Amino acid sequence: MGIIVQKFGGTSVGSIKNIKNIAKQLKLFYKKKQKLIVVVSAMSGETNRLLILAKKLYNEQQVNNIYNNRELDILISTGEQITMSLLSMALNMLGVKSKSYTGAQLSIFTDSVYTKARIQHIDTSIINKDINNNILVIVAGFQGIDKYGNITTLGRGGSDTTATALASAIKADECQIYTDVSGVYTTDPRLCNKSSLISYITVEEMLELSSLGSKVLQTRSVEFAVKTNIPLRVLSIFDNNPGTLIIKKRSILENIIEKQVISGITYNCKEAKTTVFVTDVVPGACYKFLKKLKEYNIESNIQNKKKIQKKFVITFTISKDYYKTTKMYNILQEYVCNNLGGKLSCDNKIVIISIVGVGINSHKYIAKKILSNLEKTGIILILVSTSEIKLSIIINENYTALAVKVLHTAFNLDINSIKEEI
Ligand code: ASP
Ligand code: MG
Repeated sequence: MGIIVQKFGGTSVGSIKNIKNIAKQLKLFYKKKQKLIVVVSAMSGETNRLLILAKKLYNEQQVNNIYNNRELDILISTGEQITMSLLSMALNMLGVKSKSYTGAQLSIFTDSVYTKARIQHIDTSIINKDINNNILVIVAGFQGIDKYGNITTLGRGGSDTTATALASAIKADECQIYTDVSGVYTTDPRLCNKSSLISYITVEEMLELSSLGSKVLQTRSVEFAVKTNIPLRVLSIFDNNPGTLIIKKRSILENIIEKQVISGITYNCKEAKTTVFVTDVVPGACYKFLKKLKEYNIESNIQNKKKIQKKFVITFTISKDYYKTTKMYNILQEYVCNNLGGKLSCDNKIVIISIVGVGINSHKYIAKKILSNLEKTGIILILVSTSEIKLSIIINENYTALAVKVLHTAFNLDINSIKEEI
């Protein structure tokens, strides 16, 4: 029997009662001699609580500085340490031999980019030794250690990445991410009560759904699973559903279900739209500007470039976090003004809604359908952007729920209409 990695987080480890329940469930696997590695994240709300402590300590003006802060990573990595030790104690009480480890103790090596570190290498010797001695290993997610011995964290939701990276390193049979929801839904069930559970989804679609704001999995976790071909399953601790299996290729999918172009709709309220107006007098202005963003490690989601007469209009979206204080905005504005002779403007009352599906770009009716349905409800489109696998629109954030519901119905994703089609 191969090894399975299971990850538990959020409310599933949110109280002693829940931790004890997980321990009971793990005991059943353990008795069946299933080799398990368990990754945990912090108890629900704990990471936020720790972040708030740091924010209170720092002067609000300096809030941006905390994003490159060694001490902050030490602080926020402790949330997972609480969960792992409690779960291990609960298991020991049930007679299951277990041991918990922080990322550093387990030699999960990362780069040195605090709060957003990337895993580079995992030394599996401790895990293998414990598994051979029938010890259930509990690992603190979300963290690692850099080559200088500093503790690092992997970005919000990073325990998922710990789980898939570990599964890849030890060549597990499957990586199972237990969450509060039963799997991946066609859209956020809290926003649309007609959303339905997706049984199988391709990796590319999943990547889009998680990178664009669907909060089920951290994007990087899916990347690890793809690279190393580890089946990744998202499922709920609270029911016995098999959840959603994330698979590599659509061809496998087509044998299972009838081809449905749209797999899901997702939304992201965390981005601000920034527009840069530059004339074409400065050679390579757009390129220079995007390079500047890179210099500050700013990832932009949607990028769109238009030439109107002799002016370039570059629109892009970046995390609203960068604009929490005016500091970053001022830096960008000065750069655009002094080096590119242009202007910058920002709108942070927007939402990006994305319709995701393999081959979406080759079905021209999709864009028309989106436009006509939104028009009917009086929602004004600010920007449209397409790629092979998604079509994203930017609208005013006040219309998020309405737009998602309208499009969910228009693309036959509502729970009843899917049943009817089958
Ligand atoms: N505890 C961390 C967070 O809240 C990591 C995780 O939950 O996966 O972001
Ligand atoms: Mg999570």
